Amino acid sequence: MDRFDLVKESFERREVPAEVPAGKTSEYYGELVFDRKKMCKYLDADSLQALLACIEGGEPLDRKTADGVARGMKEWAMEHGVTHVTHWFQPLTEGTAEKHDSLIDYDGKGGVIETFDGKMLAQQEPDASSFPSGGIRATFEARGYTAWDPTSPVFILDDTLCIPTVFISYTGEALDYKTPLKKALKAVSDAAVPICKYFDPGVSKVYSYLGWEQEYFLVDEALYAARTDLMITGRTLFGHNSSKNQQLDDHYFGAIPTRVAAFMRDLEIAGHRLGIPIKTRHNEVAPNQFELAPIYGETNLANDQNQIVMNLMGRIARKHGFVVLLHEKPFDGVNGSGKHNNWSLGTDKGAQLLAPGKDAKGNLQFVTFFVNVLAAVQKHNALLKASIASATNAHRLGANEAPPAIVSAFLGRTMTDVLHKLLEVPSDTPIEIAGKKGKSVGLVEIPEIFVDNTDRNRTSPFAFTGNRFEFRAVGSCANCAGAMTTLNAAVAEQLIAFKADVEKEIAKGKKVNVAIMDTLKPIIKSVLGTVCFDGNGYSEEWKKEAIKRGLDVETNVPKMFAEFTKPAAIEMFTKTGVYTEKELEARNEVKWETYTKKVQIESRVMVRMALNHIIPAALEYKAKLLKEVSLAKEIYGNLDSCTTELRILEDINKYVDDVREKATAMKEARKAANAIEDEYKRALAYHEIAESLFALRRPIDKLEEVVDNKMWPLPKYREMLFIS
Ligand code: ADP
Ligand code: MG
Repeated sequence: MDRFDLVKESFERREVPAEVPAGKTSEYYGELVFDRKKMCKYLDADSLQALLACIEGGEPLDRKTADGVARGMKEWAMEHGVTHVTHWFQPLTEGTAEKHDSLIDYDGKGGVIETFDGKMLAQQEPDASSFPSGGIRATFEARGYTAWDPTSPVFILDDTLCIPTVFISYTGEALDYKTPLKKALKAVSDAAVPICKYFDPGVSKVYSYLGWEQEYFLVDEALYAARTDLMITGRTLFGHNSSKNQQLDDHYFGAIPTRVAAFMRDLEIAGHRLGIPIKTRHNEVAPNQFELAPIYGETNLANDQNQIVMNLMGRIARKHGFVVLLHEKPFDGVNGSGKHNNWSLGTDKGAQLLAPGKDAKGNLQFVTFFVNVLAAVQKHNALLKASIASATNAHRLGANEAPPAIVSAFLGRTMTDVLHKLLEVPSDTPIEIAGKKGKSVGLVEIPEIFVDNTDRNRTSPFAFTGNRFEFRAVGSCANCAGAMTTLNAAVAEQLIAFKADVEKEIAKGKKVNVAIMDTLKPIIKSVLGTVCFDGNGYSEEWKKEAIKRGLDVETNVPKMFAEFTKPAAIEMFTKTGVYTEKELEARNEVKWETYTKKVQIESRVMVRMALNHIIPAALEYKAKLLKEVSLAKEIYGNLDSCTTELRILEDINKYVDDVREKATAMKEARKAANAIEDEYKRALAYHEIAESLFALRRPIDKLEEVVDNKMWPLPKYREMLFIS
C-alpha cells in the first residue's frame, strides 16, 4: 500500500454511530462507580458508618470494616459481570498501572468460587521492581505496596473492578503521583482552616478543586500507522507545514466533524457511566485538535478522573478509526495541546475562597487567599514551572503559545485596581462589591459582575478568571498531580507563614481585620512588582523585565528539574509534609532519566527514519532526474533543456548530504552522552541532542518540498491534519 492508498482509506472511513444508552444521562450517570448511593445500598450499617468516617474524617480503616466493604462491593461488581479485580495506581510513568487478578479461588470441593475480601481490597504487593523509583527501591528489595484510597471511588472498567490506590515503597516513600498529591491537599487544608476561622469559626476543612481542560488531536489510524515517529514518540519528528493550517481561525469552535462527534459522544457516555461529569466539547485552534472538559471537582478525584478519561480516549478512538494524540506538540507549526488546570479552594461551609464574598468580611477573606496564592506563586515561580516541565511539554514552553517560559500571574484590570487601592486606604476600609451596597468614597469595590467580566489573557500561564486561577502551563499528557501537588503545597507553606504574621499583629492589640490587612499590604506591594503581569507574556521585553523582577526564565528542562532539590523547595515540601528530601532526590533522578530516554528514543527514530525513509526516497527521485538528464544529453547532445532538473538535483544533493552529516553527528553525540554516568549531566547532554533534532528536521522538510509527491513515503501534514 502506498501513501495514496492510505489517504484514500482514511478519507473514505465512515462514521460509526455512537452507542447511546436508553434513558437520560442522569439515569446511567455513575452506574459504574461504587459511590455513596451504592454504599448505602450494598453495605451493612456498621461498614457504611466506618467507611464514611474514613472518607470524611480520615479515620483509618480496620480489617473488619474492609471485609464488610469488600462484601458489598463484590455483590455490586458481580451484578455487572465483573470477573477480575485490580489495584489501579499512578506510578511515575505516564498513565496508570494495573495488574488484573481473577476473582476465582479453590472452593475446597474441587471447584472454584469467586472471592473478594478486605485484604484484597485494602492492600496488595505488586512485584513492582520495574517501575521508576529513582533508586529508592533497589531491585533486591523490590517490594512496593499499593493501598486503597477510600476517598476515590472504586469503579468498573469492562470486566474489572478497579480500586484506586497509592503506591509506596517498603520503606514508606511515595512511588506515585497520588500519595504526594493527597499529602499536599491535606497540607493546604490544614494551613487554610485556621485562616478561614478568622472569618467563620465553623470551618473545619478546606477543599482544593480542580477543573481540567484536556486538549488532544485525532489522526486517522491508517495515516498514524504509517508514521513511525508518531507511533513511537507520539509526535511527528518532521513534516513540511501544510499551506493552510490554522491561519484562518476556522477550526476553533467550528462545527464538529461527524466522525469526531460520534467519538466524543461515545467517550462522554463512557465517562458519564463512570461518574465523570464531562461537560464541554469543542474544536480547538489547530486543525484536528479538540478539547474536553468536565465540571470541576475535588482535586484528588478530578485527577483520577482525568487519568481514566485519557485511558478511555485511547480505547474509544480506535472504534472510530482514530488514534488520540495526547503529546503536547504532535505537529510543528500549529498549536500544541495543554491541559489547563482550573484551580480553587473552598470551605466545607460552602465558601469559595478565591471568589468575592457576599459582604466586606467575605471580600476580605477572598483578598486574603487571593494575595497569598500570588505570594506562593511569586516565591516558587521557578518550581511551579519545573512542576509542568517535561521533555514533551518543552516544545510548547516559550514557543509563542501558552505557556511562556516565565511563570507570572494575570489578575485582570479589576483585581489589579483593587490591590492598588488597598495599598492606599486605611487597613480597616471595608471591601465592598459595587452594586450591592451604595457606592461611597473610601470603599474598595469589586464590581458585582466581576466573574463574567474578567478579561482574558491567553499568554499568561497563571491567570485569574474570576473565581479561580487557571494554571495553563500543564502538559496535555501530564498527570495533573505534578502541578497540583506543587501548587497546593506552596500555597500551604505561604498560608502557614501568613497566619503566624497575622498573629503577631493581633498580639500588638490590633483588630483581626486590621491585622490581616496590615500583614497583606507588604505582600501586595511585593507581588504587584514581581509576579503580577497582565501584558504579553510572549514578548521579548517581558523576558527582559522578568529577569529584572527576579523571575525565573530558564528554558532548559533538565535544569528546571533541579529546582526541586534546591533549599527553598526542600524546606517548603518537608515543612508541609509533602515530600521528604530523599523522595525529592529520587524523583529528580526519575525525571532526568525519563527526559534522557525520551530524547534518546526520538533521536534514534529520527536517525533511522532519515536513513531508511527519507534518503532512499530522495535518491529514488534523484535517479529519475539523472535518467532524464542523461537522456536529454543523448538526444540533444547538450543539457540546455535540463536547467530545472539540474537545479533540483543540486538541491537534493545538498539536503541529502546535510541529512546524512547531521544524522551521523547525532549518533556520535548520543554515544558520548550515553557514556556519562551522572543522571543530571546525561540529561543535560541529551538536552543538546533535543535541540539538534530541529536542525536535522530542516533539510528533511526541505526534501519533502522538492521530492516528487508520488515518491514521498510518509503521510504529510496536510493529510494527517485535515482528514477526519
Ligand atoms: P474556558 O475554556 O473558558 O477556560 P471551560 O468551560 O472550557 O472554560 O473550562 C473551565 C473549567 O474550569 C471547567 O472544568 C470548570 O468546571 C472549571 N471551573 C469552574 N469554576 C471553577 C472553580 N471554582 N474551581 C475550579 N475549577 C473551576
Ligand atoms: Mg480554560
